[in-house]
Amino acid sequence: MPTYVVMLGPPGAGKGTQAAIVAEKLDLPHVSSGNLFRENIKNETELGKKVKSILDAGNLVPDDLTIDMVRDRISRDDCNNGAILDGFPRTPAQAEALNAMLVEFAGKVDVVPYINVEDDELIRRLSGRRTCRENGHIFNLTFNPPKQEGVCDLDGSELYQRDDDKPETVKERIRVYLEKTSPLIDFYRQAGLLVEIDGGREIELVTNDLLGILSVEG
Ligand code: ADP
Ligand code: ADP
Repeated sequence: MPTYVVMLGPPGAGKGTQAAIVAEKLDLPHVSSGNLFRENIKNETELGKKVKSILDAGNLVPDDLTIDMVRDRISRDDCNNGAILDGFPRTPAQAEALNAMLVEFAGKVDVVPYINVEDDELIRRLSGRRTCRENGHIFNLTFNPPKQEGVCDLDGSELYQRDDDKPETVKERIRVYLEKTSPLIDFYRQAGLLVEIDGGREIELVTNDLLGILSVEG
């Protein structure tokens, strides 16, 4: 049976950082809805044109567009053994749609690590986040700096600051998270799938907890 892991937590909690590490260890694809949207924007696709202003404002893309994009991604062959989902679902409607679509793929959500970090720390992390142009690899000027300033360690492409990581938009994204996404904490707790992790610690310590959870549950 395929394995599907849903990484839950506020913007800046470390979902993308951790998803990339555990995806490699478990040999599963890292499916980031934010990266998929940013690729569409970069490639100027129809979807990219529709969603650019929404991302720039820190709002959520409508559920139907998001669900179709993620379904398309996880129906590809490289997801036959499952996926690490990062940034999806973000609303109860998306979570319901995910359950329905995984039935089609003979799977289910196996475990939901909820990476919890306090607001002040989120703002510190997001203001120093730098993202790589080519593949969305994630760095931080203070907490996880690249070896060479402005250059991705992994693929040599340019590091940039996402427009939505500017301070005004960060606050809006945290508000949107609390309003629209935080109900998923209870949704998955009631389903018996939620495992809370203290994300306020060093990257390696959070990874160790996650790997412990995934080897037990996975
Ligand atoms: P999310 O995907 O949840 O928005 P990211 O993985 O992009 O979060 O991390 C947000 C920022 O915080 C990035 O700059 C990343 O390098 C940094 N970061 C991630 N995990 C930690 C951690 N445990 N301690 C300090 N900084 C972290
Ligand atoms: P973060 O680092 O804050 O977790 P992401 O890279 O996951 O950010 O997402 C960036 C933006 O892409 C979001 O602010 C939102 O506009 C859009 N987005 C990503 N995933 C979703 C989703 N599941 N539903 C709606 N919008 C999404």
